Amino acid sequence: MATMASTLSGRPPDVKEVHIVWITAGLGCDGDTISVTNAEQPSIEDVILGAIPGLPKVHLHNPVLAKEVGNEFMEYFYRAERGELDPFIFVVEGSIPNETIKREGYWAAQGTDPETGQPITTCEWIDRLAPKAWAVVAAGTCATYGGIHAMEGNPTGCMGLADYLGWDFRSVADIPIVNVPGCPVQPDNFMETALYLLYQAAGLSPMIPLDERRLAQVPGQDRLLGAGGQLQRDQTRLDAWRRRLPERRRYLHRLHHARVPG
Ligand code: SF4
Repeated sequence: MATMASTLSGRPPDVKEVHIVWITAGLGCDGDTISVTNAEQPSIEDVILGAIPGLPKVHLHNPVLAKEVGNEFMEYFYRAERGELDPFIFVVEGSIPNETIKREGYWAAQGTDPETGQPITTCEWIDRLAPKAWAVVAAGTCATYGGIHAMEGNPTGCMGLADYLGWDFRSVADIPIVNVPGCPVQPDNFMETALYLLYQAAGLSPMIPLDERRLAQVPGQDRLLGAGGQLQRDQTRLDAWRRRLPERRRYLHRLHHARVPG
């Protein structure tokens, strides 16, 4: 009997399984994860339960949504680091602090290093996993541009993921960082972008088209992926125009979308 995957393209996906390793330990509120649970086009359940034709099996490892806790959950991160979850899409949620600008302590971390007993900082996880990820996605305005934490005067020195890794970063699949801003991220924007990447990982779609801000576009069209694509573009345009806003509005706008490049 033909599988759903084979009926879509005439051939099965290139890989049987793809993992999504999602860290919410940037400075943020987990709101993007919660927002994505409202997605309908497609829903996160449809993707994970195999209801989308052509997709490989998708395993989601997100600390807010996982049934595993503690070391059992952390094991997925260690396995990704060891190359045992290949391929995996690395999703970063929350703003990236600068751990180099203080004398002691840490700004953000997830898990404890079993050898040193010290927290593993969020920056260290990004350093460990981003170079091994099939694709790297910044979910939400905090991860994309730094968000409210990147306000002037914030002692954490927060920044967006592309500012941390470099805007010329490429994943092992030669994909730039994929930015999906929004506070919180618009659910269908995120899921349609994730779906595109999953199809690409399966070898069923070409390289994801990204504009200069690393926003995913509909192939061949000047519009962004997802039902909320225009909303996302309008917000990004507003981000770029913020310098033209009157001082009071500019201040309020910076509270919400601080440190937008460009
Ligand atoms: S972008 Fe908004 S929803 Fe997402 S972590 Fe930041 S404050 Fe929370």
